[in-house]
Amino acid sequence: TSDRGCVLTENGKKRLLIASPRGFCAGVERAIEVVERLLDSVGAPLFVRKEIVHNRSVVDGFKARGVVFVDELDQVPDGSTVVFSAHGVAPAVREEARVRGLEVIDATCPLVTKVHREVIRHTRNGRRVVLIGHEGHDEVLGTLGEAPGAIFLLTHLHQVPELEIPAAEVAYVTQTTLSVDETEEIVAALRDRFPGLIGPARENICFATKNRQEAVKALVEREIGFLLVVGSANSSNSRRLCEVARKMGTPASLIDGPDDLAPEPLSGFQTLGLTAGASAPEYLVQAVVRRLGQEGCQPEEVGGHEEDLKFQLPPLIPPEK
Ligand code: SF4
Repeated sequence: TSDRGCVLTENGKKRLLIASPRGFCAGVERAIEVVERLLDSVGAPLFVRKEIVHNRSVVDGFKARGVVFVDELDQVPDGSTVVFSAHGVAPAVREEARVRGLEVIDATCPLVTKVHREVIRHTRNGRRVVLIGHEGHDEVLGTLGEAPGAIFLLTHLHQVPELEIPAAEVAYVTQTTLSVDETEEIVAALRDRFPGLIGPARENICFATKNRQEAVKALVEREIGFLLVVGSANSSNSRRLCEVARKMGTPASLIDGPDDLAPEPLSGFQTLGLTAGASAPEYLVQAVVRRLGQEGCQPEEVGGHEEDLKFQLPPLIPPEK
């Protein structure tokens, strides 16, 4: 047929190629388990600073069970337990909780904590740190807070020449959920600008982000006509999955779930791709598969390797009931 990616199956149905790995990563699973266990033990209301993970369905589900998401600690009553989200917090927030005497359960992903430690190490060694990341993202706000005055946020390649860093050794760290390809370009430009640049061997982009981007590339190479990414608008890694596909010439849309499916733009393609960001639950993926099945799409899992990493729960978490 003439449509790009148009491959009819034997029975003439449309194909739906589903990426693997996709959806929840180890850090998100851990953060969600923290809240689940605390709901069982401490009960509602349970206070969580910021969205525990950036997914509307997960957050709405917890709200319905008595979790109160707050932007700042002054919204948490004295004597309460408060959970820090997977994205991490600035030291000033920890200090505020300590002064207030709040009981903190920290669900920060260990891979984000690792980036914070790198910033601390660099600044102790007198270095200035470039943080490659997206302005305003919760993870970036937390990391920036580790070294006010000594850390410089950089988002785009074209900003590299504009960086004004006082003479010092320069190091870099990155947000964990960036585009691998774009970040490589930015790091290369930084190395040109600061020849002694110190940093991780490649970047701090986490395994889950990398694996999901690789899986999207594999789908696009199978000539899908359109990629659907299950994820919320504020989920950085989900948005990057759309960008990876678009950069390879394949249109892509972020959807929160089956209700966001607009049949019109999809009707022109015989082969669709489907994946999910690291904060998007599998039940939403399956709901999308069911809805597209009603439109005649035949699902097919594509490749990928299993992720078996599991992070230990933070201290103070009561055992499962
Ligand atoms: Fe941790 Fe990566 Fe998941 Fe973020 S996307 S929570 S850094 S494993």
